[in-house]
Amino acid sequence: MTDSNQELLVYGPVPSRRLGRSLGIDLIPLKLCSYDCIYCQLGKSSSKTVTRRPYRKADDVLHQLEARLAQGVSPDCITIAGSGEPTLNSDIGKIISQIKKITPVPVALLTNGSLLSEPEVRDSVMGADIVIPSLDACTPEQFLTINRPHRLVTFDKMTEGIITFADEYTGKLWLEIFIMEGINASVSDALAFKPLVDRISPDVVYVNTAVRPPADPSVKQASEKTMADFYTALGRQRHMDVTFEKAMSGRADRDIKPEILQLASRRPVTVADMAAGLGISENTAKREAETLLDSGLLQALKKGSCVYFRKTLTDGKKQS
Ligand code: SF4
Repeated sequence: MTDSNQELLVYGPVPSRRLGRSLGIDLIPLKLCSYDCIYCQLGKSSSKTVTRRPYRKADDVLHQLEARLAQGVSPDCITIAGSGEPTLNSDIGKIISQIKKITPVPVALLTNGSLLSEPEVRDSVMGADIVIPSLDACTPEQFLTINRPHRLVTFDKMTEGIITFADEYTGKLWLEIFIMEGINASVSDALAFKPLVDRISPDVVYVNTAVRPPADPSVKQASEKTMADFYTALGRQRHMDVTFEKAMSGRADRDIKPEILQLASRRPVTVADMAAGLGISENTAKREAETLLDSGLLQALKKGSCVYFRKTLTDGKKQS
C-alpha cells in the first residue's frame, strides 16, 4: 500500500454507526486542532491553531486512496476526519473534488465547524456529499469549558459559521451534539440548544456521548435515559444507527499491524472494532493487538467491561 516510512493517510474501512464501512482519510498530523475538547479521544491538544496549510499533500492522499480502492475495498463512504480538524488543511477543496473524479462513493466530512465562518472554508467543502459539524455548547461559557477553543474562535463566530454554511449548502447536513452528564446533557440544556438547532435546521441530529475513553477522565457518559430525554426536548427523532455487518474473513492476507496502529492512533478501539474495520477475525485482531501491546506500541485502557487499545506516542509517552 505504502512504503513503511510513509504516513498512512487512508485507513480502514472502519465501522461507523452512521456511515457503514467508512474508509477514512486523514488530512492532518496528530493532533492539530482549533479545539482541545475535554472529551477528545485523541488526548490533549499540544497546541491549538487556526492556521490553514496543506499539512498533507493532495497528491499523497489521492495516490493512497487510489491504491486502497485498487485492492478491491468497497466502502459505503469515504470519510474525511482523522487526527485533528480537517478543514485546517488548505487543500481540502481540491482533495474533495479529486476524490469525486476517482470514485462514485459518497464523501463525508467530519468537522468541528470552527472555521466555517470563513467564506473560503465554506466554499472548499461544498463538494462533500455529507457534512457533519459538531455543536457541543449552547452558551459561550459551555463552549469554553467543553471545546477549549483557540482564542480567535468565539462561540458567536462558530455558530454563525455553521448557520451560514447550513443556509448555503445543498448536500446532507447532519449535526452532532456530544453530551456529557453534569455538563451539557440536562433537559434545560437541550431546550437551550433547540433554537440554535432549529435555526441550523440539519437533516439529522446525532446526539453522542463518551462511550470511549476521553481526554479528561472525569467526563461522564450520558445514560440511555438522558440521551432519550435530550432528543425529546430537542423535538428530534433519535435516528436509527446504520447496522454494520462485521467482516469475519479469518486471517489477514497482509501485515495488519500498521493498520491496527493507524486505527488506534485516531481513537481507542476494541478488538471487535479492529476486526470489523479491517476485515479480519477477532482472534487475529486479538493476537496482533497483544503483540503490539507487548512491544509497547499499544496501550490498553479499561472502561466498564470493555478494553480499548490506543497507540502509544512515539516518544514513549502515554496519552493522557
Ligand atoms: S474532539 Fe475533534 S474537535 Fe475536539 S479536540 Fe479532538 S480533534 Fe479537535
